[in-house]
Amino acid sequence: MPPILTAVHRGILGGTFDPPHLAHLVAGNVALHQLGLDVVSVVPAGAPWQKANRLVSAAEHRWQMVRLACEGVDGFEPDDREVRRDGWTYTIDTLEALPAEDRLVLILGADAARNLPSWQRAADVIDRASIAVLPRPGMDPAEVESAIPGVIWLDAPALDISGTDLRHRVAAGSSIRFLVPDSVFEYIELHHLYRPNDDA
Ligand code: ATP
Ligand code: MG
Repeated sequence: MPPILTAVHRGILGGTFDPPHLAHLVAGNVALHQLGLDVVSVVPAGAPWQKANRLVSAAEHRWQMVRLACEGVDGFEPDDREVRRDGWTYTIDTLEALPAEDRLVLILGADAARNLPSWQRAADVIDRASIAVLPRPGMDPAEVESAIPGVIWLDAPALDISGTDLRHRVAAGSSIRFLVPDSVFEYIELHHLYRPNDDA
């Protein structure tokens, strides 16, 4: 008998997650519910090529924070395949490594979606996965639509939260509690991430 293959309707939420924050969780959750996904794989990038020009926290810290952020969240599965892979991280490698029978949906903020045409093998990415997009403050939906025709828009409030802003706030001594899950907040404190002169 041939093996029974179960097609999974899988969302993929990739990113640097430096740190993972509430807008990431909102993105995964609205995709899960609005698209009726079975699961959302949350996949931190190992060496994000788009961020080659800035210092990114160690992959192990970002992975641990993603793991904590997903703990107890129904439908979310942290996935460490990109942090374990050598070399620059390309989304297409991840999509191609997932079971061929899975139906894939790439979940992106509007900024990431607008840049997708510049990604490695962008045409293959769009071929393999549907693209679901969340609004992001300051981003014009028309620019996304001209970059990738036929995207699915997810209905969520545009949340003005970014990793960049959170890192700056921690560095300036502000509290980011409630903008990140409590477990992530505690991890950042424990490991002194994002403090000035921190080489994490
Ligand atoms: P950074 O400022 O370091 O780039 P970030 O907040 O943009 O951090 P990323 O890890 O770069 O977080 O983003 C991962 C994914 O989540 C991307 O698709 C990005 O567009 C999306 N995303 C992040 N923050 C938001 C937000 N506030 N609203 C919608 N999408 C978001
Ligand atoms: Mg970003």
